[in-house]
Parts: sequence; structure tokens; C-alpha cells
Amino acid sequence: MYRMALSDQYRSLSFWHDSVPEALAPGDPLPGDLEADVAIVGAGFTGLWTAYYLARRDPTMRVVVCEQEIAGYGASGRNGGWCSALFPASLAKLARMSDRDRAIAMQRAMHATVDEVGSVAAAEGIDCHWAKGGTVMLARSPAQLERAKAEISEAREFGFTDDDMRLLSASEAESMAGASGVLGGTYTPHCAAVHPARLARGLLDVVRLAGVQVYEQTPVLELLPGRLVTASGTVRAQHVVRATEGYTPGLPGYRRAVAPVYSLMIATEPLPEAAWESIGLAGRPTFGDLRHLIIYGQRTADGRLAFGGRGAPYHFGSSVQPSYDQVPGVFAALRRTLYELFPAVRDAEITHHWGGPIGVPRDWCASVGLDRSTGIGWAGGYVGDGVSTTNLAGRTLADLITGTDSEITRLPWVGHRSPDWEPEPLRWLGLNAGLQVMSLADREEARTGRPSKVAAFMGRFLGA
Ligand SMILES: Cc1cc2nc3c(=O)[nH]c(=O)nc-3n(C[C@H](O)[C@H](O)[C@H](O)COP(=O)(O)OP(=O)(O)OC[C@H]3O[C@@H](n4cnc5c(N)ncnc54)[C@H](O)[C@@H]3O)c2cc1C
Repeated sequence: MYRMALSDQYRSLSFWHDSVPEALAPGDPLPGDLEADVAIVGAGFTGLWTAYYLARRDPTMRVVVCEQEIAGYGASGRNGGWCSALFPASLAKLARMSDRDRAIAMQRAMHATVDEVGSVAAAEGIDCHWAKGGTVMLARSPAQLERAKAEISEAREFGFTDDDMRLLSASEAESMAGASGVLGGTYTPHCAAVHPARLARGLLDVVRLAGVQVYEQTPVLELLPGRLVTASGTVRAQHVVRATEGYTPGLPGYRRAVAPVYSLMIATEPLPEAAWESIGLAGRPTFGDLRHLIIYGQRTADGRLAFGGRGAPYHFGSSVQPSYDQVPGVFAALRRTLYELFPAVRDAEITHHWGGPIGVPRDWCASVGLDRSTGIGWAGGYVGDGVSTTNLAGRTLADLITGTDSEITRLPWVGHRSPDWEPEPLRWLGLNAGLQVMSLADREEARTGRPSKVAAFMGRFLGA
């Protein structure tokens, strides 16, 4: 009875949770002390992919996952479903951190990761509504068109061709996504639209079948070398893995490791065929435009628009609370933006509103690694680009833990350490000022058509 009531609560987390076929009743919590080879905190994509590849590499390995709520509770179950080749640090920044060849290798690894997710989903029978339709990014002001051209030039400088990303004329862009005011855009084939909660819950089933023990409703109170401490017992293991992303500051010792920044989404009711005739998105490419304060969307398999964006406030002390998922002002702004993009949606009912925390590291660069002296592994700081990156992280952690020397363990994000965020109130002031500036810059660019200098300055200040 209690579990079914919880299942109803979890279904209300997002459109995705509300539309998984099965109930979301949590599995058993950790029953007491346990010995394992690898103990993972967090059953989002990072934790589940790590468990998946460990179990595939060595079926005898004892892998335990402790999740405070249910698998897919966090960002992994709630996101925009862009399984993309986007990595939060640019190619130029990756080249500065390492060198040009390794930056290129990172991007190629991201391209391959999109297909890896699709192949595993197909091979394991996970019906996550996979559609590899690429991404169309619209330019809807002269300033956005300049950014589209700059993105293409950066890709060309690193040897990527039209096959990876190309500039679109206004008519080409409009034929893909029939939005208003389109001046051009970019298109990359390296993205698939997915139903993220189906992927997370499907992965849960697969890892359980492979022998991984996943304990739900089991908050980890402390992550220490060789053990995870919970209220109902301690898991001892040679390797422990932190896979907690936006929730990381809740663990003792990690308060300043990443800043939880909220991304919020809405979903329409299924739209009539007449609306899709004008909107397009045939083949289900994911879409957005090139404004500073990111917006993103996908046409769902059941014919809705799921649409999201940033702009919700960062909360003092890196606090994460369920109530922060609901910000009426941001939902209203998302609705306005969606209607402005696609006037054909104007009469559609918005059936779902939700949000969740993403993990932002101080230098905006995701990382994965294993500290051999403590046995503690980690992956995260994906900003808003974790749906595929978590898969690369899981494979990399499996290689690092099993001591497998591979190409992916030499990628530039492996072992990278982002600096801590500033203490409060500086963190709060800096992040919220950044969000305000991005929004002002978008308004200024919409008015003048010229690129905003203040946005460029703020981007550099925040390390984005
Ligand atoms: C609204 C939204 C839209 C997004 N859109 C996209 C997108 O379209 N494409 C994209 O690539 N990325 C997107 N992202 C980001 C992406 O979802 C994340 O980067 C990715 O899911 C991170 O996976 P994760 O497993 O590391 O973290 P999470 O999925 O957040 O999982 C962390 C898990 O750890 C658990 N946990 C935390 N602390 C503890 C503890 N102490 N004890 C036990 N368990 C704990 C949490 O309950 C949670 O289940 C979006 C995110 C949001 C919120």
C-alpha cells in the first residue's frame, strides 16, 4: 500500500515518469551491512551505466548501488531526452586543457557514445523510444546567426566536416523545424531523442538481471574510502563510486564540488496532425535556438512537444529541494517561448510541468576518474549534457576499476579535477547574476540583433 502511494508520488515527478509503462514502486532498501567489490552511490545514468559495464566486463564482480529514492529519480529520469554528442567544455577549451588531438578524440568519443547508447538499448530490449534524428539549432536573430557560423568555424578548425555539423539556410532550417523568425541554423546528425525514464528504468532491470544489487530508498550518509555508510548498514568495498551529480553537495565533504542549477520543462498534450504539418520535426530531431539562456525540445514518440530551459534560480548553499522543481514564472516564460516558436501549439494544453538539478562544476568541465590511493571513483559535472556522457563515464569507470588500459581512459576529461566553487554568498551572487545577465543579453540581442558583449564577459567570468 505504502509502496504504491510512493509509486504515485514518483509518477508525478515529470511527464517521463508519468508515462513509463510499469509502476514506480521502490525496491528493497539495504537490509544491513554488506561486502562488495564496487559500491556506487546514485542510480541515475552514471551509476547504472557504471554498474552495467562492470557487470558485463566481469560477471563475478559484486556490484552494489545505493539510491536514496528510486532509480531514475534525479536528472536522468527528467531531462530533455537529447542523447547528444555535446560535451560541456568546447573543443578549444579541451585543447587548452590537453592538446588538439585529444580534444578531437574526445569529440569523436562523444559521437560514438550516441550510437553506443542506441546499440545497448536495442541489444538489451530497452524500449526508450530511440530516434536518431540529429539536432537542429535555429538562429532567430543576426546575433544567433553569427554564433551558428562561429560554431561551424570551430568545428572546421578541428577537422570536423559537414557530415558532423553543417550550416543551414533559413529555408533548410525551416523545413526541419517550422518555427517563426528563422534566419538559418546548424544541423548535426549526432543526436537521438529518447524517453529518458524508460531508458533509466530499463537499465535498472538489465543490471539487476546481470546480478547487480540495487537498493532503493537508501540514502548514503557518508562516502569514505572503502565504504558507504547508510542508516541501515555499511557497504564495504575496495572501490566506491560517487554518481550523485546535482545532489553531490548533500554529501559531507562535497559541498562546493558542483553547483546544482535547475533546468525546468513543460510538455503539451499530444498535438493533432495538422499542427505537426506546420511544425515538422519529421524524424524527431531535437531542437533549440542559439540564445544564451539555453532552451531545448523534442517531439515525443506520442506526438507531444517536451520543451525546457534554464532560468530558475540557484539556491543558497547549493540546496536541493523538491519544491525548487516548480517555478511558475519560468513555466510561464517557457510557455510563451514555445508559443512564439510554434504558433500552431497555441491552443494545446500544457499537461506537465517539472524540473530538476543539473551539476555545474566551477570550470564547466565534466570529469570522470578514480583516485587509486583512496579507491574513490567519480563522474559528473555534465552541466546539461549528461544523457550520453554518462554512458562514456560508465565505460571509463569500468575500465579504470578493472585496470583495463583503453583509448577512452586517455581522454582529456579523465582524472580532470575542477576547482571548488567559491564559498557563499559569492557562489549565490555569481550564479544568479550570471543567469540574469544571460537573460538580459538575450533580450538585448532580440532588440538590437547584435551579439551582447556583456554575455561574453559573464561567460568568461563564470568559466563557461
Ligand atoms: C530538466 C533537465 C533537462 C535536461 N536535459 C538534458 C538533455 O536533454 N540532454 C542531456 O544530455 N542532459 C540533459 N540534462 C542533464 C542530464 O539529465 C544529467 O546530466 C544526467 O542525467 C546526470 O546523470 P547522473 O546519473 O549523473 O545524475 P542523476 O540522474 O541526477 O542521478 C543522481 C542520483 O543519485 C541519487 N543520490 C544523490 N545523493 C544520494 C545519496 N546521498 N544517497 C543515495 N543516493 C543519492 C539521486 O537520488 C539520483 O537518483 C537535463 C537535466 C535536467 C534536470
